[in-house]
Amino acid sequence: MKRAAATLILITCILLAACTTPQTDPGPTPVSVVNESILPGDDFYLYVNDAWMRSHPIPAEKNHYGSFTQLEDKVDADLLALSLKAENVSGREADRNRILIGQFYRSGMDQAGIDAAGIAPLKDDLAMIDAIRSRKDLTNATVTLTAEGSGLLYEYFAEANPRNSTVLIPWFYQAGLGMPDRSYYVHNDTERRPLQEKYRAHVAKIFSLLGEPDQQASADATIVYAMEEKLAQSHFTSVENRDPQMTTNIISLTDLEQKHPAIGWDLLAAIRGSGPVTVVNVYQPRYVEGLNTLLATAPLEDWKLYLRYHLVDSASPYLSEPFENEHFAFYEKILYGTDAMKPRWKRVVRTESGVLGDLVGREYVREYIDPRTKGMVRGIFASIRRTFDNRIAQLSWMGEATKAKAREKLAAMGEKIGYPGRWTDYSGLELSGSYAGNLRAASAFTLIHGAQGLDKIGGPVNPEVWTIPPQLVKAFYDPTKNEMVFPVAILQPPFFDPNADAVQNYGCIGWIIGHEMTHGFDDQGRQYDRNGNLNDWWTAEDAADFTNRTAMVVTEYNHFEVLPGLYLNGNLTLGENLADFGGLTLAYHAWKETADPPDIPADAADRQFFISAASMWRVNEREDATRLLALTDPHSPPNYRVDGVLYNIPEFYQAFLEVRPGDALYRNVTDRPVIW
Ligand SMILES: [Zn+2]
Repeated sequence: MKRAAATLILITCILLAACTTPQTDPGPTPVSVVNESILPGDDFYLYVNDAWMRSHPIPAEKNHYGSFTQLEDKVDADLLALSLKAENVSGREADRNRILIGQFYRSGMDQAGIDAAGIAPLKDDLAMIDAIRSRKDLTNATVTLTAEGSGLLYEYFAEANPRNSTVLIPWFYQAGLGMPDRSYYVHNDTERRPLQEKYRAHVAKIFSLLGEPDQQASADATIVYAMEEKLAQSHFTSVENRDPQMTTNIISLTDLEQKHPAIGWDLLAAIRGSGPVTVVNVYQPRYVEGLNTLLATAPLEDWKLYLRYHLVDSASPYLSEPFENEHFAFYEKILYGTDAMKPRWKRVVRTESGVLGDLVGREYVREYIDPRTKGMVRGIFASIRRTFDNRIAQLSWMGEATKAKAREKLAAMGEKIGYPGRWTDYSGLELSGSYAGNLRAASAFTLIHGAQGLDKIGGPVNPEVWTIPPQLVKAFYDPTKNEMVFPVAILQPPFFDPNADAVQNYGCIGWIIGHEMTHGFDDQGRQYDRNGNLNDWWTAEDAADFTNRTAMVVTEYNHFEVLPGLYLNGNLTLGENLADFGGLTLAYHAWKETADPPDIPADAADRQFFISAASMWRVNEREDATRLLALTDPHSPPNYRVDGVLYNIPEFYQAFLEVRPGDALYRNVTDRPVIW
């Protein structure tokens, strides 16, 4: 039931999914009151956002609070209204979609029923795990859980073949850990070590809730932890996961079955409803080897404990109160420092939106779209694309051959704006049971029949389908499809406002559009060609020049100290930092070249542009969240997304002449990378 991450693995987006809560309309566009006691050259992010940050403390149920969370709150409220309406829809077949939404929402809000059921919704799966007597049983059980939408050890889903991008094939992606990533198991530093003990205690607590005496729960937790430690050894690091060459491994089903039989490739290929499988893209070959060895050699009783724990742990947000509380206590309180659980309605509408994406999305776009949005945003896309094309043509460091290919790729880059042209058909989905049962049914249905479900394997990539729903506040670039996706939810204030000035819209949504466009040419994206195939189109000389320029960005971010002694990883965050840098550069120039001049002097307008852009990232964040994200997130923290970029942009210095050598973040011209 963890899912959801699957379709977002390769794509590079604007931010990670965030946890949040209710209340407050984000209002119109952000009006920033700068703090004049902070010099713009010392910390522009703080200069712009300090006043807002002081007056917007983090609500107890959030780990951060900022522009994105405010808009997510509005979307949540919209989803609640939609769910409440659907709750009252009755029997007519024409409203089946809304009936399903109503059923799901009702089951999620039935706290008394959920509490009374305890772990009953998992009893069949727990019995299956309990009945494992052989290696064959073990393989069968892990594949059965995958087919039910509860894959624990890996993600298995359909995506474009990176070497033949018009065809969908299965991808196999590492999973199976309870802590954020492998580094928490293999590094015993001051940031990570404290979490190891807390995680062991959490595992023991789950066993206690399942009725084990304390001593046994603790012993079983030690076994589960040791299993995870072994799995973690073979996991790719977060930096390795960003390497398209390492993570593209198209292997035949026959080879996989011969070399790693314990995983059960034939059984995966035979999941009911799957299209024909001949090859699989193995994202992390080292993990496949490690997992296969463990499945073949670790004691069966250890595996049973592992599966039992992970099944219950991953389902616990949808089980009775003690399980839900324990889930919160570790995954939100300890990991992110959040003080209180989100209200139930919010937990339910988010889950509903996650597993019934298109079903909810179709209703959402019917009610919550400004008719002007799509056309206006398309205009901004066009102007940024034009600006990017011109700038590539004029680059002094790139040769003509590479330029021609780059411009071809840019021209071919797709843009999906608003919502899909084709919606997933949910007519085969039956809901009726418990909340956890409905979640299971919806997850299993989506795995097979979703927008890009396993039933599409072997077939063509359909350009009309979307892999995320329109009600998600997110945007991304998908390299294997060479396309940008902008759900309608993010095309709202403060990111885009049909009533706002161009300076505001270009500074915000324009930056995000430029960000996603740049991803097609960042250190990862540039390795894919115009058709989305992993195919090098750069001359060796231009590739080397690009890498030298990006090395300056790596060094720059390596020096940012997020918390005392904790520095950003410039390699992990490189793609996002390049996209932020390119994105703001493109948005600025597109705005200057396209938009009607505002009613204020040009230099004041330029200042307003950079202030609008910086205000988009304003946020207050709990220290635990900051620490965890700095260790795992390929996106830099919001203040560095602003400050890391601005001081590299010449026009920023022209707009803020008071930024001078000697200011804390002033960068000498020779230290500023020049890329796009
Ligand atoms: Zn991004």
